[in-house]
Amino acid sequence: MKLSSLGEFGLIEQIRKMTFRRSPSVFIGMGDDAAALKLSSAKILLATTDMLLEGIHFDLSYTDFYSLGLKSAAVNLSDIAAMGGIPRFCLTSLGIQPSISVEHIKDFYRGFRAVLRAHGAVLVGGDTCSARKDFVVNVMMLGEAGKTELVTRAEARPGDRIFVTGELGDSAAGLELLKTGAKRGGSVVGRLIQKHLRPEPRVEWGRKIPLSRCAHAMIDVSDGLSSDLFRICEQSRVGALIAAEKIPLSYQLRKAAVYLRNPPVHYALSGGEDYELLFTVPPGKIGKLQMLGLPVTEIGEITRARKILIVDSRGKTKPFNPTGFDHFALSRP
Ligand code: ADP
Ligand code: MG
Repeated sequence: MKLSSLGEFGLIEQIRKMTFRRSPSVFIGMGDDAAALKLSSAKILLATTDMLLEGIHFDLSYTDFYSLGLKSAAVNLSDIAAMGGIPRFCLTSLGIQPSISVEHIKDFYRGFRAVLRAHGAVLVGGDTCSARKDFVVNVMMLGEAGKTELVTRAEARPGDRIFVTGELGDSAAGLELLKTGAKRGGSVVGRLIQKHLRPEPRVEWGRKIPLSRCAHAMIDVSDGLSSDLFRICEQSRVGALIAAEKIPLSYQLRKAAVYLRNPPVHYALSGGEDYELLFTVPPGKIGKLQMLGLPVTEIGEITRARKILIVDSRGKTKPFNPTGFDHFALSRP
């Protein structure tokens, strides 16, 4: 069977089945934003890794090394945030063409260091190799959480309300603007491109949500709302009903979408790389969530029937299929 017909997540599931072994120390293994490993009866070690490949995740013709370093740290921090954890340590591995200037690599680590420091994590190791063609970055991030503080993808319950932090779609629109060679000068284009090149991981918000005990399930929006909501629903064995009109879209995205000739919601649903948090809250805990004062928007409800539906802007209910990024089904950038 070809990888293109199995898909990224089909492949991961096959790897999981082949290698699965029950262990009392593995609280959560493959399948969530980070693995949760028992260090003691109360303490959990979180471990996640994400790779960024030239030509797949970034294009050096429009990505500077400072932004690349910053984003490499941010996407990994985001997975710790999505578990409700505190980032602590990380390791970086690089595959570098010998022709790259040292100053570029230093710029990479200037960006990397800035985000790490902002979130209190420390770089403790890694690996450096030569690469033939493309620049390769792999980051492993370790974090911690109390056992009772973890928020997984698997605990959403029917009746929960679905919330998202911030605004969705900016990053995908920013990427499209970069590809079309749009001028960065203006504030609309500049902000969207900034959101794509330099995402902000929601580490503090990701921590406040579990500490207030208001969320049942959480994930970070890395592959697009449709795909990431699908993952919560699949792992929690529930469905969802989303209202397209309620999806938070920035003023900048609405303006740029006219120029890009796409409905703005398209970028939120299937774009990805927003690194906002998507989480579910039982109705009785919404007051607690509101007391946190976070910028969150309610976009729908978890349902018992295991299908995901979306009410479009004309009030029509349609199936909401995952259309986000799959490494073997599509190509990027
Ligand atoms: P995220 O988007 O949150 O980084 P992914 O969708 O990349 O998560 O991965 C989903 C889950 O599959 C994660 O728990 C990840 O650790 C696991 N996973 C992905 N690829 C592999 C692999 N090659 N081997 C083992 N586990 C993997
Ligand atoms: Mg994630």
